[in-house]
Amino acid sequence: MHELGLLQSVVRAVDAAAAKAGAGSVERVGVRVGALSGAVPQALRGAWPIATAGTRLAGAALEIEELGAAVWCDVCGSEQPVDQFYALRCPACAAPCGNLIRGREFALAFAEVPDQLPD
Ligand SMILES: [Zn+2]
Repeated sequence: MHELGLLQSVVRAVDAAAAKAGAGSVERVGVRVGALSGAVPQALRGAWPIATAGTRLAGAALEIEELGAAVWCDVCGSEQPVDQFYALRCPACAAPCGNLIRGREFALAFAEVPDQLPD
């Protein structure tokens, strides 16, 4: 599963950061997912418990921020939103356009650890 691999790299990074910060657990994790990243939000949610099992992230909530994709069209001189059926043409003027400026992201947006009292 493609989504599991993507999540595992995020989980490893957050788990390591939590360990460094002395946090025993992580409460919430947010990821940014571009419309053309190839990751399906529903599959990410399904893979989340598997990716986090046995880590500080076990039981953490996953928040997915979906980002729309867009191209820059030189003919229109502007940014144009595209969807997953985008076929290398500007949706506004139909000029050939391969200038994807947004939509392939898969990135960690934030991670929150519970408030802890000093020992
Ligand atoms: Zn155009």
